[in-house]
Amino acid sequence: MRKKIVAGNWKMNGNVSFLENILQEISSTSKSLENDKEVYIFPPAHLLLAAKTFKNRMKIGAQNGYFADKGAFTGEISMLQYKDLGCDAVLIGHSERRAIFKEDKALLKNKVDAALSHGLKVFFCCGEQLEDRESGQQESIVLQQLQAGIFHLSADDIKNIVIAYEPVWAIGTGKTASKEDAQEMHAAIRKAISEKYDAETAQSVTILYGGSCNAQNAQQLFAQPDIDGGLIGGAALVAEDFKKIIAAI
Ligand code: PEP
Repeated sequence: MRKKIVAGNWKMNGNVSFLENILQEISSTSKSLENDKEVYIFPPAHLLLAAKTFKNRMKIGAQNGYFADKGAFTGEISMLQYKDLGCDAVLIGHSERRAIFKEDKALLKNKVDAALSHGLKVFFCCGEQLEDRESGQQESIVLQQLQAGIFHLSADDIKNIVIAYEPVWAIGTGKTASKEDAQEMHAAIRKAISEKYDAETAQSVTILYGGSCNAQNAQQLFAQPDIDGGLIGGAALVAEDFKKIIAAI
């Protein structure tokens, strides 16, 4: 059966003392989880080495990575280098990377392939803009993103993908998708995996919800049959809130 996961995306926030404090605070909640549940932390790159020391049962991931292994790419860090550092996973396709850093579908696909080839789990983010939802295009937009980014993979490789459905209008805005709308999209994603691969593969893929998920709404979102946990931004920076969200899986 698929894993249930709560993952914290810290974005460009935090320093060494913040990391030590928050990981210490959440480690007992994370350690008490059953084996089919996992907590991932995605701190900024400069904290990953320290995070490795404090992570306990938690897993750590990078928020980005480049597809070439090495070379003249000033400022970039490769998937191979993140693996060498001890990372378990990488986020690919976050809407901030797509919008601010203009990452296009060809680049994202290359990143997915490189990360998997080095044994990193890929958290692949997808999600529609507000105007897509208002015009009823949300499902086709999200399925196009999956088609371009991960549906070229083999059934074996797709099992190393965690899909994070993150409606762009819900990220950092305080506006959460309703549990019904989120469930509807998660079910559509699982159906698309089933059609592309098979039913067993579709049942094995973890699909997270992200977008203003917090200590108050996590439980009702995670209770939906196709929502297997959350990718959490703002609320992952507050130990008390993040502990409650972890407890909700
Ligand atoms: C995110 O950045 O992935 C995210 C879900 O942010 P927030 O929880 O703050 O909306």
